[in-house]
Amino acid sequence: MKDSLDTFSFYKKFPNEKACEDFIIQSRWPHGVYCPHCGNYKLYRLEKQKRFKCATCRKQFSVRTGSVLAKSKVPLQKWLMATWILTTHRKAFSSVRLAKTLGVTQKTAWFLAHRIREPFKETGSV
Ligand SMILES: [Zn+2]
Repeated sequence: MKDSLDTFSFYKKFPNEKACEDFIIQSRWPHGVYCPHCGNYKLYRLEKQKRFKCATCRKQFSVRTGSVLAKSKVPLQKWLMATWILTTHRKAFSSVRLAKTLGVTQKTAWFLAHRIREPFKETGSV
């Protein structure tokens, strides 16, 4: 099975939502997290809610805010796994197969597959 996924390595790198969140933070804000509302770098991290609170405008946001994940409830781990699968497999990976692999509905798998083509594209201006 030449196209089997090395899931062991994936789970080692992304064992939980926290690890996934940190990874997304690193890739989205390589120079440090800033507020998408006012651009300020002074933030509080609300660990429990998995959100940030801006010290200046006091608005809250998460790693999903302003990204393609904004309206999605899909766990970050499933999102990253879908991204990994679809970027690893150059050939088409059907949404039926993706749904089975991730343990999500086919509708969700279809949504993920389509959204992954434009990863973390910022929507609108701040
Ligand atoms: Zn702010």
